Amino acid sequence: MSTNTNSGNLPDIQELQTLANQLFKAQPNEDIVLPEYNPYDATKPPVSVAGSGVSPSGIHHGNAVNLQDPQTGFNDPGLNASIQPVEQDLGRSFLPFELIPDSLFHLPFQQEQPFEKQLQQVLNGIVTTPNLPQIPLTGFGTDPAAYYFLKDKPAATLPGFDVNFIRKDFPILSENVNGKQLVWLDNAATTQKPRQVIDRISYFYEHENSNIHRAAHELAARATDAYEGARKKVQGFLNAGSVNEIIFTRGTTESINLVAKSWGEQYLHAGDEIIISHLEHHANIVPWQQLAAKKNLTIKVIPVDDDGQILLDEYVKRITPKTKLVSFTQVSNALGTVTPAAQIVQIAHSAGAKVLVDGAQSVSHMPVDVKSLDADWFVFSGHKVFGPTGIGVLYGKEELLNVTQPWQGGGNMIKDVTFEHTTYHNAPGRFEAGTGNIADAVGLGAAIDYVTRIGMGFIAQYEHFLLEYATGLLKQVPGLRLIGTAAEKASVLSFVLDGYKTEEVGAELNKQGIAVRSGHHCAQPILRRLGVESTVRPSLAFYNTCAEVDLLVKTLHGLKK
Ligand code: PLP
Repeated sequence: MSTNTNSGNLPDIQELQTLANQLFKAQPNEDIVLPEYNPYDATKPPVSVAGSGVSPSGIHHGNAVNLQDPQTGFNDPGLNASIQPVEQDLGRSFLPFELIPDSLFHLPFQQEQPFEKQLQQVLNGIVTTPNLPQIPLTGFGTDPAAYYFLKDKPAATLPGFDVNFIRKDFPILSENVNGKQLVWLDNAATTQKPRQVIDRISYFYEHENSNIHRAAHELAARATDAYEGARKKVQGFLNAGSVNEIIFTRGTTESINLVAKSWGEQYLHAGDEIIISHLEHHANIVPWQQLAAKKNLTIKVIPVDDDGQILLDEYVKRITPKTKLVSFTQVSNALGTVTPAAQIVQIAHSAGAKVLVDGAQSVSHMPVDVKSLDADWFVFSGHKVFGPTGIGVLYGKEELLNVTQPWQGGGNMIKDVTFEHTTYHNAPGRFEAGTGNIADAVGLGAAIDYVTRIGMGFIAQYEHFLLEYATGLLKQVPGLRLIGTAAEKASVLSFVLDGYKTEEVGAELNKQGIAVRSGHHCAQPILRRLGVESTVRPSLAFYNTCAEVDLLVKTLHGLKK
């Protein structure tokens, strides 16, 4: 069915009316009232999309209402002709697929117009009978037990999905590097940004830019609305109990420093013990070392086995009545190990310790639910989850945040100031002194919308498939040794190659347009534990393909010759 009667990609109102009448059971000769559809008109002052996270280019194109002309790579049942099994050309098996997004269509002004809900229902009605091929799940990853990172079993069939549609959302993936098309396998360092995020930030600066919370004028309202809307999206993404539990920071590093310098300064005392794991990024080591030096605290380290897996029994042995904090990563950036986070949290809590979980490498690869994880703090960076750099998040339990002293003073975080005394807002305000990174918070909101529409469960499953595929092929490269071979891994394939320095391998791959990280990955202790100073580290995201993995492996085979 086409919803299109004009070349402007707008829905056919008459058609919608007929559908609305059917769906909402209109009385004979009466129409269900559909308020006027209000498409984006570049010649008029923009209607604010503040807080909706809707891409302005999406608005311009009727926000993907046109089934024949998707503006995104989201699974689009109207495009039967374009639905290709993933990697069909390579004759590979199909991928498991967990979720079809609840709502395939996204409208402009979603949270602002009362008619949107009704219209949304009508549009959803259009896609309830998609003629999707249901493809039996075969090949890689058929064992549901392998999907340890998902709460629910993966679906046994895959509705049509084309990774090449998704790739079109990422302009930089078409970039040429050294005369070759870019192959971005440095996702653990940072991820590329979809057009929806880039456009959302431009839109902010073109139509909404203002400082927030401070003025009575229209732009201040738009900017505040957009910024607070982004906070709400983060809350939903993490399944936090309240928006007050979401603090915007510069990134993971700043979030951990914030906890060390506010809660740590206030509540830790000489003789107290902090437990971290051997897998930690320097960002989750150095702030605690600094605090330990200042306050005479002890740091203990949970060891790992030779595969890079946390030794839980050793962890338990390190817990004492003096343990006040356990701080660890959910996924190792250097090895890809997925840690038994829920168990670690539970054990810490049973000993009365607080827990910080570093989610920098997990949020982009698996669904995260801070309520069920039950950590006291959870931190991540926007740029690792397809959002902008310079913005990140500290989630903290609300009660705990409100009894924690602020770490920076200034505007925005105060209730009242006299020369004698200052009172502070509750969280999140008390931890957001000064003007924050407003536009990039809004961009992060758009990134969260983006991955949410694809479905984090699906992303996890697809990447798991790619990881298994790549691991199998890399093992066949002569002289290649994988560093980090945990049973439960996400996204990362660290290795060393006989006869080559890691930077030489990186440079050779770069000649083919392949971007990987070679070095110590800001995680020197874990690399040294496994006997190396540096590794080559390809790391995957959902826009990577088997063909890209093939090119990586082929180049490495070439090197060995
Ligand atoms: N923690 C982990 C596990 C990481 O992988 C990283 C970055 O690679 C960080 C912390 C620091 O993140 P950022 O540099 O965005 O603050």
